[in-house]
Amino acid sequence: MNSKKETPRKAISRRDFHLLAMGTALAVATPAVPALADHHEDAEKAGPDLVSDVKSNSLLLSQVAYIGDSEREGQQCGNCALLIVNEGEYGKCGLFVEGKVPTTAWCTSWVQKREM
Ligand code: SF4
Repeated sequence: MNSKKETPRKAISRRDFHLLAMGTALAVATPAVPALADHHEDAEKAGPDLVSDVKSNSLLLSQVAYIGDSEREGQQCGNCALLIVNEGEYGKCGLFVEGKVPTTAWCTSWVQKREM
């Protein structure tokens, strides 16, 4: 005969089960939030994603002979008509879906921006 007295298993309600599952999910997910915030801060310190860092841009970059620092006087992304957003040091070029260009960069698609 077993001398230990077994405690009866308590049935867990569906509601308790869901609360327990949500608590477990939150406990697992919570440490990731500060890590993501740190990653975002690091990314901002390092500057924006450049077109030259985006792997899917590599073919187009070579087709337009893109260079990060223009070697042509008076021709750079900062005064190119295809620069659709100019944020000062960087901008968004209409040629590239992802990434930004330094306003000092250049490529063979450069077109003089009209002064208004
Ligand atoms: S098209 Fe103009 S803005 Fe875009 S990379 Fe070439 S020079 Fe820069």
